[in-house]
Amino acid sequence: MERYILTIDQLEELYSIIKDEYKLISPTLKDGVIQYSQNIDFKDLPFGYTQMESAGFYTVKTTDDCYFSYIRPYNSLKQFLRPPKVNFMTVRRIDNNLTFEYHLKYEKYAFFDVRRCDLKALYILDKVFIENKYPDIQYKTVRENMFIVGVNCLKASDVCFCESMDINFEEGYGADIFITEIDKNFLVEVLTEKGKNFLNKIKLKKQQSMNLNKKEEVIEKFKTTIKKKLNTENLKDILYSKIDSPYWEELGKRCLSCTSCTQVCPTCFCFDIREENSLDMKVSERYFVWDSCFNQTFATVHKFNLREKISHRYRQWLMHKMAYWQDQFGTFGCIGCGRCITWCPVKIDIQIETQKLRDL
Ligand code: SF4
Ligand code: SF4
Repeated sequence: MERYILTIDQLEELYSIIKDEYKLISPTLKDGVIQYSQNIDFKDLPFGYTQMESAGFYTVKTTDDCYFSYIRPYNSLKQFLRPPKVNFMTVRRIDNNLTFEYHLKYEKYAFFDVRRCDLKALYILDKVFIENKYPDIQYKTVRENMFIVGVNCLKASDVCFCESMDINFEEGYGADIFITEIDKNFLVEVLTEKGKNFLNKIKLKKQQSMNLNKKEEVIEKFKTTIKKKLNTENLKDILYSKIDSPYWEELGKRCLSCTSCTQVCPTCFCFDIREENSLDMKVSERYFVWDSCFNQTFATVHKFNLREKISHRYRQWLMHKMAYWQDQFGTFGCIGCGRCITWCPVKIDIQIETQKLRDL
């Protein structure tokens, strides 16, 4: 593997050549939150900011420790790979004939600064949308043309519990290059040919030798900042044995079924297909829209709602993340990013609730 040490100026150069070739998505501070957004200038990356997050709480403050001082953004890659609402087809009735226009877009995205938890989320989404009998062509095409710059976290927030959720701190999970900030310089590890091509375009004086122990030190130091832990040993079977626990009713009394958790979750992928027809019934627009297992009609089949109570919907969500997903895809559906904890208006914490259920 080729490795380079870049200065902040060289990192800016790398950023701008990626931006020249791709529709670049990167984090920025906008509307009071750190979020992935398009077409961000290098100077508008949220260097020097960090989030304070806890159950139902979010704020941003400045810090001057390092450049990559913030944690993962509040939104995730799914917002771009599977946007909340996409008009993908128009059907027109002209005389007695129907015409079909398809609007699927195959954007050439690059993502700058994807943390290890979100790379694992991408690995999970790939299993859902690509690695099955009927791959989603739009998702698959966008994924194949994507460029990803991974970045190692330097500090966890109070909601992160990624270390418990099989996040591999050594491999890149599909990133093209991986950056570790070391003493305000950047170790860049080149993982693919696409990554190599970009690095070759920067006038790097020479490939420098380096002490890789420094990178390990950064990762180990980061791990010491993760305070939240979930015991996942035999978790699937333990949760299956709690399927009729009265504790689900307690959770159902607290949960508002607002869907906030599923919207921010990087691995929640459920969507619906909706039709909007013109009043004269000559034009019909067809959309993908995000759906949620917390929606009242989500499990309605032939007017019969299989999950009428909120407790049933909460149980479905938690069980899918922590148990069913393992049977379906061979992995947890949760990457421990903590977004659902931060954005739950009634402070329901999936790590605490899962731990409680296993300990009952
Ligand atoms: S369930 Fe919560 S902690 Fe787990 S991946 Fe989704 S948002 Fe992150
Ligand atoms: S767990 Fe929280 S965020 Fe999720 S639906 Fe219930 S109230 Fe909303």
